[in-house]
Amino acid sequence: MLRIGPDPGPMPSRWGAGSRAIAWLLLVCFVSGCQSVAGPLSIEQERELGGEFARQARGEFDFFRDRLVNNYIEQMGRDILEAAGPQPFDYKFYVLEEDELNAFAAPAGHIYVHTGLILAADNMSELAGVMAHEVGHVARRHIARNYNRQRSTGILYKLGAALLAVFVGGYAAQGGALVGQLAAMAYLNNFSREAEREADAFAVEVLPRAGIHPEGLVSFFETLAAQKGGGGSPPSFLSSHPATDERIANGRRAIAELDLDPGLKLEDDGKLEIVQRRILLLTGMASP
Ligand code: ZN
Repeated sequence: MLRIGPDPGPMPSRWGAGSRAIAWLLLVCFVSGCQSVAGPLSIEQERELGGEFARQARGEFDFFRDRLVNNYIEQMGRDILEAAGPQPFDYKFYVLEEDELNAFAAPAGHIYVHTGLILAADNMSELAGVMAHEVGHVARRHIARNYNRQRSTGILYKLGAALLAVFVGGYAAQGGALVGQLAAMAYLNNFSREAEREADAFAVEVLPRAGIHPEGLVSFFETLAAQKGGGGSPPSFLSSHPATDERIANGRRAIAELDLDPGLKLEDDGKLEIVQRRILLLTGMASP
């Protein structure tokens, strides 16, 4: 999930779903007394945390309610999971109606993908690359690891009171953006560079087993890096997933070292394009 890069960029005028997700997660932890949990976060504890998060999220996020689009994302998630092998969590994939280019994993495999990210994908393997990366954060227990690190620094506790004030006061409350930044910062420091590398490696390893070329993971980051240099505000996904040269080079090297089946797919016979068209139509973004 989120990791703040060296330059967090301009302060957002409102909270994006990603920041809100983090804030909710921290709030859930605070209210449910995560502080008192002893030892590493167990599978069962992560399940509880994820379940609570998903319940809160239901009233908080704008879900994109279209069966075709949801089925497409769900099926892509299932294909990735099947290739990944047995998992301790019952993963769920959600589509949020958000223009912001982002995706994130909440505890226990609740994975949220923005319509903005689906629209930004040039081909199926780019979208699958991001989804496999997010699954990788859950499968490699990065959330449990981050959670422990956070707990040890006591940052959850310190943020809890501030977050409660923000939620009581609403998002528009003065200082809300600042607290959002702090929350993002806290959660972000969780996902170390090493965790990002592991999640990338997970995607590169698992995607070919799902019949999908892992090239999309790298090309997507290249596109994002190019956009960042092109003026305007950089996609928010970049603040959590810096598209560094090192990261792109690592991905390329890992892919080059694999003896990949030439039949692996970058496209899915126009299905992604249908899904994108549908999102554009249903959100009123399509030209008549
Ligand atoms: Zn990541």
